[in-house]
Amino acid sequence: MGSVDKGLVPLNGKPMVAHVLERLTPQVQHLLINANQNQEAYVAYGVPVWPDALPDFAGPLAGLQAGLMHCETPYLVTAPCDSPFLPTDLVARLAQARHAQDADLAVAVTGTGDTRQLHPVFCLVKTALLPHLNAYLEGGGRKMGSWLASLQVAEVQFEDESAFHNINTTDELRMHDLDRALTVAQAQRIIQDLVQPIHGQELVPTREALGRVLAHDVVSPISVPAHDNSAMDGFAFQGADLATNAATTLTIIGSAHAGHRFDSAVGHGQCVRIMTGAVMPALCDTVVPQELTQALTDTTVSIPASTIQTGDNRRLKGEDLMEGKPALSRGRVLRPADMGLLASLGIAEVAVQRRLKVAFFSTGDELRSLGQPLDAGCIYDSNRYTLLGMLTRLGCELIDMGVVKDDAQSLEAALRTACENADVIITSGGVSVGEADYTKPTMAKLGDVTFWKIAMRPGRPLAFGTVASNGKKAYLFGLPGNPVAVMVAFYFFARDALLRMMGACEAPLPRIRAASQADIRKKPGRTEYQRGILSTNATGNPVVQITGAQGSGVLHSMSQANCMVVLHHEQGPVCAGEMVDVVVFDGLV
Ligand code: AMP
Ligand code: MG
Repeated sequence: MGSVDKGLVPLNGKPMVAHVLERLTPQVQHLLINANQNQEAYVAYGVPVWPDALPDFAGPLAGLQAGLMHCETPYLVTAPCDSPFLPTDLVARLAQARHAQDADLAVAVTGTGDTRQLHPVFCLVKTALLPHLNAYLEGGGRKMGSWLASLQVAEVQFEDESAFHNINTTDELRMHDLDRALTVAQAQRIIQDLVQPIHGQELVPTREALGRVLAHDVVSPISVPAHDNSAMDGFAFQGADLATNAATTLTIIGSAHAGHRFDSAVGHGQCVRIMTGAVMPALCDTVVPQELTQALTDTTVSIPASTIQTGDNRRLKGEDLMEGKPALSRGRVLRPADMGLLASLGIAEVAVQRRLKVAFFSTGDELRSLGQPLDAGCIYDSNRYTLLGMLTRLGCELIDMGVVKDDAQSLEAALRTACENADVIITSGGVSVGEADYTKPTMAKLGDVTFWKIAMRPGRPLAFGTVASNGKKAYLFGLPGNPVAVMVAFYFFARDALLRMMGACEAPLPRIRAASQADIRKKPGRTEYQRGILSTNATGNPVVQITGAQGSGVLHSMSQANCMVVLHHEQGPVCAGEMVDVVVFDGLV
């Protein structure tokens, strides 16, 4: 499937490697994955991932070598990551035959006569064969067949040829894929697994870093505050001087202002008038606020009994940030507080990830751009403007490619230009059933794009995959055309994926619970996103009201709404007063 890593391509809602791992788990003691690309995506399966020790994708024997090098058991079984139907008795039968024939390894075979086929990548090998394999590879050998010829091989006949089938084309994948809509969670998971962070970073002045993604951890070069200092305007003294159950009288020997320290020693029975932020004089550990004291004379104050304790009102050195300790982590999307924090550390420039380049266009013969006359039967292209807003908020570098006509040549040309100039392409429209007839072959020609039906409303059709042109590759999100569906698909599918590509460690959109003010109709078996208005009731608790018309073309109600009510896949109708999940738009829409 072109440049696509087949193990990660979805089949029936999960990547093929997940099917393979599921089938192998009950058959073996340990699992490991050999992968030379997309290691991060494979690591997500909680299994050790090892690349070939040999360079240049040297083939199955290099993979076998990597497996044997890291195998902790006396035998190793191998199966390709794109063989989701492998037999559930594969290991037992290979092991039994190897033992019975005292062979070096056992290999699966299917068919007889002309249809007989050896499946050497489905094999069980003695781990002790590693030196033998190393010697073969060092001699320049790369062919499985000729290596096997030097060994004693047990061949095991399997009846079901299709169990060894690996999936090589998207069409084959589609054939095997049940005609079933993916759940939202499945689709989100697949997309997150497939996308990878982009490379490249740049130094920017702290004052321009808002919304950028930190490329490295920031370690505090200094402590903040740099010294113990006063949290109040008052008098600094030694806490040990406080009398028990009686007033304490102190002699004022000087003043300390912020930025001007008091350098003389402060003895017992003495104090220094001190301002907020001023460095604590030597030996002083306590500050009594001015308003808690009584001035006895110009040079003496009294602290009434039991008003304060030793250590009160003193800010400790490093209590905000300690020198040498992590202050901000890589992947942080910098917020206003972070900019202040960087400034407090004296950091004038930070390394951030380069901006993610996103090319976007709308498809449809009926669409007119702003400034054009609105011909009969036409509508203004609004999706490009909602996308513009949403992508700007995410901090992407935008390439607005306008409106593309509903024909294969225009679409191909647009996709090629987008692909050659951007990391990600976002289109809207043209992915619903009728139209996909021409969109599909065009997208398929340039790469590997799967058209998904997702059990959700709005936004059911979605295309996702990669396209390539002139050696450049880009991820493609084909969003539906309806204006509300575009926004829903963007927020609940594209957003997290774009953040991952940007190298950002942002949590998914936070949800809160609110009581629905009215009944909501909902069928189990799909996720519904309804526009809502969140407020607080008389007792101060969060309540949500669905905004009028929920049609996926009614952008107006999206604009009125301040949140999205998320009704989950299994959830049925909601009764008034019932708690529902709500995603607040603040800062998003
Ligand atoms: P489609 O997914 O192309 O079948 O479009 C579904 C609906 O969304 C149709 O009514 C389109 O006219 C409308 N639509 C598609 N693209 C846009 C757009 N960029 N702006 C506004 N409406 C659109
Ligand atoms: Mg259309």
